[in-house]
Amino acid sequence: MPTPFLEQPTPNSLTTIQSDGSRTFLYPADSKGPFTRARRLSAYGLIAFYLSLPWIKLNGYPAVFLDIAERRFHLFGVTLAAQDLWLMFFLITGLGFSLFFVTALLGRVWCGWACPHTVFLDHVYRRIERLIEGDAVKRRALDVAPWSGAKMAKRAVKHALYLIASAIITHLFLAYFVSLPEVWAMVSAAPREHWGAFGFILVATGILYFNFAWFREQLCIVICPYGRIQSALIDDHSLVIGYDAIRGEPRGKPHRAATVAELSNDPSPRKTGLPFVLSSVGSATAESSTEVEAVPKVGLPTAGPAKVGDCVACNRCVHVCPTGIDIRQGMQMECVGCTACIDACDDVMTRLGRPRGLIRYDSQKAFTGGRTRWLRPRTFIYGVLLVIGASVAIWALSTVRPANFGVTRMTGSPYIVDDTSVRNQFLVRLVNKRNEPVRFVLHVKDAPAGLRKIGFDSAIEVGALGESVHPLVLQQLRASYAGPFHFEVRVEDAAGTFHLERAAEFLGPDPRLLQEEKNERR
Ligand code: SF4
Ligand code: SF4
Repeated sequence: MPTPFLEQPTPNSLTTIQSDGSRTFLYPADSKGPFTRARRLSAYGLIAFYLSLPWIKLNGYPAVFLDIAERRFHLFGVTLAAQDLWLMFFLITGLGFSLFFVTALLGRVWCGWACPHTVFLDHVYRRIERLIEGDAVKRRALDVAPWSGAKMAKRAVKHALYLIASAIITHLFLAYFVSLPEVWAMVSAAPREHWGAFGFILVATGILYFNFAWFREQLCIVICPYGRIQSALIDDHSLVIGYDAIRGEPRGKPHRAATVAELSNDPSPRKTGLPFVLSSVGSATAESSTEVEAVPKVGLPTAGPAKVGDCVACNRCVHVCPTGIDIRQGMQMECVGCTACIDACDDVMTRLGRPRGLIRYDSQKAFTGGRTRWLRPRTFIYGVLLVIGASVAIWALSTVRPANFGVTRMTGSPYIVDDTSVRNQFLVRLVNKRNEPVRFVLHVKDAPAGLRKIGFDSAIEVGALGESVHPLVLQQLRASYAGPFHFEVRVEDAAGTFHLERAAEFLGPDPRLLQEEKNERR
């Protein structure tokens, strides 16, 4: 059963989880303003980016295609074979250092602006909810209303749209791994022909639906590890969304004795002598007039001190918060940096004719009257690590060759001695990472005179993104055999555009044994 009114948030407990473990479902009000608009634009751009990746072709393959079946990874025009997966180390550590650096500098800007969870929740699922069920007040009223035909119809449409959105995201996510044509082939065929993929689609759609329809902010609050480690990554100089307590406190209005209901019912708010009334907030944010009734019954002083700060205790910043916190109580782990409270408060300040920015992006140092230092040991160290990591990653990527090969000794005896020669037998695995056939030529270098190569007499063609294994036999006449030696195997394409080399060793008996055997035979 939904909780009809939000409890006053406190920094010592989670607003959304009660002491008995039950959930308090939130009804965050809409915010409007430059940050909300910018976030929405950025989110639509990101959604278009995520969803378009399987459609954009680079070098003949989707921009992101993690082809697990063929053990090929196509990333923005670069194709990596399974043998190149060590490069992922740089990608993962690079992402880690980037996150460290950005968090130390800009706090949770990732959470609020770019995290796929926030992007889809705020700009897809909440928009659907708003469209079907109305603003926060109407949603809350619908939740507590008894079941009726209208309520069932709204719920059915909303959840059907949630399921469709979840299914679309899941199919496009699957396309990252099997490509769009393959997804289309699977969708067109009967489920029994693709039980694995069908099961994945069902489970992933169900998980997304559960998360975005119900779990929502709980993922950020109780599951995501990033929220927890951020307290170790930021310091007093990191940019965060915060409340200017010096300017805002003591909050409230002098000579005030009005209740929320009185304020919201005031037909001529600006003639009351009060600097601000809640109904003006409602109209300013394009919420219906009933939005005012959504004001939690919290924190409104009935009498203020003679001198007050700029915060008028309207609690608008609390209403819009999707994680149910009161930013005026200081930085909290639950804050996902969504900027809704900035726009909400700026709107209030504008209507009051006061400077915007009572809630704003700033450092905790600045909020306490100090000066923000951008360059400090942690940003310097994270920045240096980031630059070093990026440089090594660029170098490593530049060393990726369009082919790969390996030389392994055949199983069994490491060498074979007969009446005339000593033989070593190898297997050479050729991997073509190009999207077109390549003809490979193999040479043996730095070997003693007289070494004979059997196999690879002519160029060997390997198909696009193909692999093939061929025997290579090296034979040294007994007469010229002088013991084991090291040599190089060199593989190049017939056009000579690249070459690869591997070290190998020719094994054999002690040449004195061969000499003794020869003497005995005489
Ligand atoms: S929105 Fe601004 S004025 Fe209203 S309670 Fe929050 S901080 Fe105070
Ligand atoms: S306090 Fe709430 S509304 Fe403000 S940025 Fe954090 S999560 Fe968003």
